[in-house]
This record gives sequence, C-alpha cells and structure tokens, in this order.
Amino acid sequence: KVIGKNKFQIYSSFTNLNTNNKIFSLERDLKEAIKTNQFLVYFQPRVDTKTGKIVSAEALIRWAHPDWGLITPKEFIPLAEENGSIIEIEDWVLKQICHYIKEWEQSGTPPVPISLNKSPKVILRNDWTTNILSVLKETNIAPSLLEFEITETALLQTNEIVKRAFDLLQEVGIRVALDDFGTGYSSLTHLKEYPISTIKIDKSFVQNISNHRDNIIIKSIISLAKGLEIRVVAEGVETIEQLTFLKQQMCDEVQGYWFSKPLPKAEFEKLLKKGN
Ligand code: C2E
Ligand code: CA
Ligand code: CA
Ligand code: CA
Repeated sequence: KVIGKNKFQIYSSFTNLNTNNKIFSLERDLKEAIKTNQFLVYFQPRVDTKTGKIVSAEALIRWAHPDWGLITPKEFIPLAEENGSIIEIEDWVLKQICHYIKEWEQSGTPPVPISLNKSPKVILRNDWTTNILSVLKETNIAPSLLEFEITETALLQTNEIVKRAFDLLQEVGIRVALDDFGTGYSSLTHLKEYPISTIKIDKSFVQNISNHRDNIIIKSIISLAKGLEIRVVAEGVETIEQLTFLKQQMCDEVQGYWFSKPLPKAEFEKLLKKGN
C-alpha cells in the first residue's frame, strides 16, 4: 500500500514536471511563433437554421508548435494574455482574416462574415480599435464582413473604454457579438448598455437542452434576442435533437460539431464553394 502511494506521488510529480516544462516552453516560444508563422486560423461554420446554408464562420486560432504539435487556444491564450503577446497575436489574426476575405472575393468564392475573438485584456485598452480601422482601410474589405466576439464573463461592469470602442465599431458597420451568453454576471446590463448585434448562447445550455431549466433558459434568451432585434446563435450544437429544438424556437444560427468541427482554411473554402 505504501509503495503504491509512493509510486503515485512519483508519477504525479513527473506529469507536473512535464506540464510545467510545456507551459514554460510555450511561454518562451510565443514571441518567436509570431515571427516564424507558427499560428494557423481554423474556421467553424455558422449555419442558418432556415436555409441550412453557411452564413458566417468563427475564426479559431491554433498553434503548430515545432515540438509540441498542434496546440489549442485554451493552452496558450492565457499565457499570451499574461505576457502581452496577445495583442500581436490578435493583430495577426485580423490581418490574416482580412487578406483571406480579399482572396476569396478575388477568386470568386463569395465570402461570408467572419467573427474573431477578442481578449478582455485587449478590449480594456483604449487604442484597440485603431488597428482594426487601419487594417480595414489597407485591405479595403466591407466592415460588415467582420464581427468581434467578446466573452461575456469578461465584461464585469459597464466600462467607458469598452462602450466607446463598441460604439465606434457599430458606427463603422462592424458587428459585436456577446460570446458565452448567460454565463456572466450581468448579461442583461450588457444588452442594455452596449450596441450588441449578436448573442451566442453558451454551449453549456445547449448541451443540457433536455434539462427543463436549461430548456426554459434557452427559450427565454431567444425570445429576448428577438424582442431586441439581435441575432441569436447557439454554440456547441452536436445532436439532431438539439438542432430540432433550436429550429422550433426560431434560433437564427447554429454552430457546432453537428454541422462541422473547426476546419483548416482549405477545407472551409471547399464548403464555401460547394454550399453557397
Ligand atoms: P469560444 O470562443 O467559446 O469558441 C468555441 C469553442 O468551442 C472552440 O474551441 C470550438 O472548437 C469549440 N466547439 C465548437 N463546436 C463545438 C461542439 O459542438 N461541442 C463542443 N464541445 N465544443 C465545440 P477552441 O477552438 O479550442 O477555442 C477555445 C477558446 O479559445 C475559444 O472559445 C476562444 O475563447 C479562444 N480563442 C480562439 N481563438 C482566439 C483568438 O484569436 N483570440 C482570443 N482572444 N481567443 C481565442
Ligand atoms: Ca467565440
Ligand atoms: Ca463561446
Ligand atoms: Ca469560451
């Protein structure tokens, strides 16, 4: 018994060591990764529940690390937020997306609006929209082809910097989506104070749709969105039952494994060419 316990301790300190090594190496390699083009953007389609067509897509970043392989954002975004490289990373994502949209337009693949995730660390800085405007100008793409997703939990109370930035984006014609809707502390206040175009219902509600309470919450969010004329998207849709329910409730769009996982650019393009 005693040996078993020791064994466990040795094993667990090994894994800790490995995890720590990985975190340490990722943190160290972040800056280099931008310069040497190790990041990739994947696309997850958003599908209109009425037509079944792809009407939009979310850009999701991946890191192709030379030693650790493909790394998900959950592993490195927190590190990038901590050491500040999140700013460069998100600038890079934006540039890529604008150039891809340009490329699609020129090659006869009609583009759909792309939504990009914004870190709360970035939106609390007062200059984050400046770069967006200059990239738009540079690439000359329609502002309506861009949307920014702001995680709801990131907006603690109404913030003047955030408010001014959102107002500016709205004026230019760029949409703002509230991500992970329903998981924050003041969802309703955000809808009241900020110019929000889209609500993304958090997947934790969608995936418990058979639960009476989650079911009622989703219905209410959809009806709230309809009343406010805000587009409503359900995230994490994995089953036909979930899809059927959301269709019945007139949810505008669905996103999730039921339709497609996040795809590399080339595969997403094939879908765009084929389906739309
Ligand atoms: P998120 O914005 O909530 O993105 C949705 C996540 O759910 C994605 O994980 C996606 O792959 C996953 N997902 C999609 N459909 C399903 C489904 O049917 N079932 C389940 N269980 N999951 C599904 P991913 O790509 O690992 O991204 C994780 C998070 O990383 C994102 O959560 C987002 O907050 C963040 N992230 C991704 N790209 C960026 C970026 O460019 N900037 C910032 N700041 N954050 C990013
Ligand atoms: Ca998102
Ligand atoms: Ca989300
Ligand atoms: Ca999330």
